[in-house]
Amino acid sequence: MAGGDEWRAFAAEDADDAALLGWFEEVAENAGAVQAETLRRILEANLGTEYLRRWLGGVADGVGGMGAAELEALFASAVPLASHADFEPYIRRIAGGDASPVLTADPITMLSLSSGTTDGRPKYVPFTRFSSQSTLQIFRLAAARISRIFPTKPGSRILEFIYSSKQFRTPGGGILAGTATSHYFSSEEFQTKQRSTKCFPCSPYEVIAGGDYQQSTYCHLLLGLLLRHDVECVGSTFAYSIVQAFAAFEAKWEDLCADIEQGKLSAEITSPEMRKAVAEHLRQPEPVFASEVKKKCEKLKELGWFGLIPELWPNAKYVYAIMTGSMIPYTKKLRHYAGGEAVPLVSAAYGSTESWIGANLEPENPPEKVTFTVIPTFAYFEFIPLLDERDDKKGILEAEQPVPLAGVVVGRQYEIVLTTFTGLYRYRLGDVVEVTGFYKRAPRLAFLYRKNLILMVNIDKNTEWDLQQAVETAAGLLSETGAELVDFTSHADVDVAAGECTGHYVVYWELKGDAAEGVLKECCAAMDAAFADQGYVVSRRTRSIGPLELRVVAAGTFREIMEHYVGNGAAVSQFKTPRCTTNEAVLRILDRGTIKRFWSTAYG
Ligand code: AMP
Repeated sequence: MAGGDEWRAFAAEDADDAALLGWFEEVAENAGAVQAETLRRILEANLGTEYLRRWLGGVADGVGGMGAAELEALFASAVPLASHADFEPYIRRIAGGDASPVLTADPITMLSLSSGTTDGRPKYVPFTRFSSQSTLQIFRLAAARISRIFPTKPGSRILEFIYSSKQFRTPGGGILAGTATSHYFSSEEFQTKQRSTKCFPCSPYEVIAGGDYQQSTYCHLLLGLLLRHDVECVGSTFAYSIVQAFAAFEAKWEDLCADIEQGKLSAEITSPEMRKAVAEHLRQPEPVFASEVKKKCEKLKELGWFGLIPELWPNAKYVYAIMTGSMIPYTKKLRHYAGGEAVPLVSAAYGSTESWIGANLEPENPPEKVTFTVIPTFAYFEFIPLLDERDDKKGILEAEQPVPLAGVVVGRQYEIVLTTFTGLYRYRLGDVVEVTGFYKRAPRLAFLYRKNLILMVNIDKNTEWDLQQAVETAAGLLSETGAELVDFTSHADVDVAAGECTGHYVVYWELKGDAAEGVLKECCAAMDAAFADQGYVVSRRTRSIGPLELRVVAAGTFREIMEHYVGNGAAVSQFKTPRCTTNEAVLRILDRGTIKRFWSTAYG
């Protein structure tokens, strides 16, 4: 039986794959006990903090002597469920330089900016060494599972579209702030992961941290081409970045080939650090190599870039990124680039800036079937059961009190609550998952949607998942045309003029290629008809919700949205197109970009 220390933080850097996998088997087998132990450790370390004293002041003697059940019950009864807003005043003080034990006993010296694409506002959460260590651990665990199925050669390369945004010091407090991915890419653990998996990114840190994502993407692609025979994996944090990068490739391949031919980097790359780092790999003209790549690109262009990955990176074994949840819509394009089944898509782990949650232990599963096994040492997890279909409310209302990990039931939907080593206690993450089974005693979760991404006008409730389904159904009608759906978002327009009684859903589509107006009208009606939520159907029939509106926006509109978020501090690496938005700046961009509007005729 593993001792408590191993349960907390397995020394991933020193372990071989077998030891790591063995450790995980044991932790999964004892998931319930490991969770109680994790909670005990978090509380023992942090009982003296201002936050916990407020709620657990009466147990000043410590929690050491308590049994697991007693401890979990005390914690759940004394410490309230909380949201980011509840922690914000504490985090603000930390950002301002308050080094007293506010949330954690050890001072927090770094803050992470979560992507903030949910409500349009990046939010700070604490980041500690534990955050980087758990990242290393879950990446190592994933790599160990993947290498059994898709082995790669030691010393191979990963063409990795990763981007680090600028780290900065908080005004007044001097605390190092940046996105969690940026902190990780500059950490020792990022280096350790490369050494221990013997797989190295094509790009040096200067490219990853270049600060301008278009220039970084160009350099990632260029270095990827130069190292094309060593590349055995193509990856990114979220699938979106890979699709973006290959869209850039479609536009820039001639420039990239010219750079290789002349041995000279394009003048469009203006960052001196990036230029210097890339120049080392681009020492001499390579006309033969360039012409080989060029020929392949010409052929690929004729095929609409189908199979770009296997053609240009013939040794690529798999494509790796988060492909679940809001990333599912990009998998179609990714499969296209991957040549259908030629290079399999492997979906990465499930986590958040706040904490890692679970690993994908079946890398061979397609993204649509991926589940995540909770790692019980990363945080103390609770699960708020949601009312399900049988209660006719589609998981929107909370049914009961949170249950601990050992209390979850297969087939039920839950909102995740986290208590972390980084100072978040009973923190509602806002993600909704379904328990699909167990790996030993650790629950397996399917990610469903972010709870606050919901289209709602009156009694209707459609989630991100419902929207995704409706869009997918409707976009199927485009298959006969030359158009494809590039990206989409939505808005519940309840801002109705006096005298009008109906709000309605507005869905924005960006297309590549042309589709006849008639087809788009059909798409609009199909989307409206595809929302099966009873509240919506009834409201549409009674006309208390107006016809769904499809707005087609100009090419580049969604890129502008991404740039808007990046300009506000979000990182490209963590960017997720908000599938439903009320953000005024984003709505302005969408309005400006609108080129065509259609209203559904689905309900007559
Ligand atoms: P961030 O705030 O940038 O750290 O983003 C974290 C959020 O991204 C999570 O709370 C999820 O909503 C989403 N996410 C992360 N990993 C996955 C995954 N594997 N599948 C689906 N959604 C994910």
